[in-house]
Amino acid sequence: MENNDKMEKIVSLCKRRGFVYPSSEIYGGFAATYDFGPLGFLLKKNIEFAWRKWNVQMRDDVVEIEGAIFMSPKVWEASGHVGGFADTLVEDLVNHKRYRADHLIEEAGIMENAGGLTLEKIDELILKNSLKSPDGNPLSGAKKFNQLVKTHLGAVEDESTIVYLKGESCQNIYLDWKSVLETTRRKLPFGIAQIGKAFRNEITVKNFLFRTREFEQMDVQYFCRPEDAPKYYQEWKNNRWDFYTKMMEFNPEHLRWRQHEKDEKAFYATDAWDVEFKFAELGFREIEGVHDRGSYDLDQHSKFSGQDLRYFDAATNEKFNPYIVECSGGFNRLFLATMFEFYREEGEGDSKRVYLSLPPKLAPYKVAVFPLLKNKPELVERAKTIFDNLKINFTTAWDDRGNVGKRYYSQDEIGTPFCVTVDFQTLEDNTITVRDRDTKEQPRIEIENLGNYLNGKL
Ligand code: ATP
Repeated sequence: MENNDKMEKIVSLCKRRGFVYPSSEIYGGFAATYDFGPLGFLLKKNIEFAWRKWNVQMRDDVVEIEGAIFMSPKVWEASGHVGGFADTLVEDLVNHKRYRADHLIEEAGIMENAGGLTLEKIDELILKNSLKSPDGNPLSGAKKFNQLVKTHLGAVEDESTIVYLKGESCQNIYLDWKSVLETTRRKLPFGIAQIGKAFRNEITVKNFLFRTREFEQMDVQYFCRPEDAPKYYQEWKNNRWDFYTKMMEFNPEHLRWRQHEKDEKAFYATDAWDVEFKFAELGFREIEGVHDRGSYDLDQHSKFSGQDLRYFDAATNEKFNPYIVECSGGFNRLFLATMFEFYREEGEGDSKRVYLSLPPKLAPYKVAVFPLLKNKPELVERAKTIFDNLKINFTTAWDDRGNVGKRYYSQDEIGTPFCVTVDFQTLEDNTITVRDRDTKEQPRIEIENLGNYLNGKL
């Protein structure tokens, strides 16, 4: 498959089949916000389940919380976001469209990672390379633009009622860390996981789900003794690789590590590596960051709140703020990476098929049931009984439109791994065909063995 139009195909499939819809579409859409449709919702829940299984359920040193979106505005002062969570923008001087300066510089091929450039350096590069806006117009000087989304809570709208939507989801974890420590009676090292919303006023938004203004982050914050941080940092790096290759079943060739350059790191990080995924024509792009945050967050929150957040180690009689190793992935990017990874096209002309070769654990529907002919009540009735039994244990689709070949293709496109067809032979010998999405084989098996057969494959 040509790689240069994969994004377009995925966007179209997502919309056509009800994975992802643009938000507020009847009002002309609302930039960079999306709704998950029925199939996208099922896929989302399955991805979250896989993430939770890997990061929480299968470990005995990680627990999960769900924090509120609204938090005291002090949190964002302490975290450094009010002062420092800013991207650099430049403005088209004719039409006043705004752009991320680092992205324009990277896209123009001037340098690869422009994230850490100072305002002066950006101005110098724009001048030196005669860089213009994408519409060909001159650009303004670079300036900082804070990404926090602000609103007011309460009856008056003044400085005193400003609140910020979460700029990164993880802050609840730092605030709750001591409560979790005490209520779960843990000892270091241990981790707190969370899947939570984050909001960023991104200057430029493009590439579908890759950069949105509202998204979920999937975090593990691992608390440890300062001297153990390098060891756990390495362990979590290995863990993330295994998560993507073993749990998500991504091809390792589509993944790579990239270390942040010194001036590119976020203000809280002492070491930072990104897991990058190859989004076909877009190239390798970040899907998760692994950061050594040191004790920055607990130090700041102790200072701003006046509370003692330190850990007491009874064995050594020491009190200290632990170091934190952070793994922070974005759900929307993981969803998009999953679509890129498993999207397949096969054959030509009439026999061309598009399918999602999703691992069965991720597939929205595990199985679909069809009566061979819709106008034969005895086939429909038999198929309905099988459908009703299967849906107790599996997400099951029903389809009686068109011919069986078309129904297979339709299920292939949404990644359903198995299709069960009830035909005339079923009425004679209680067998059905179970068609496999990937091999297209259709073994006949007895109805009473169907549950076991599927359980063995799913
Ligand atoms: P980028 O450099 O692409 O803006 P970032 O380095 O600011 O990302 P982090 O702050 O490390 O991102 O956030 C952790 C994860 O959250 C990212 O790896 C990404 O998966 C996700 N993420 C961040 N910003 C967005 C966004 N605007 N839309 C979707 N996901 C995002």
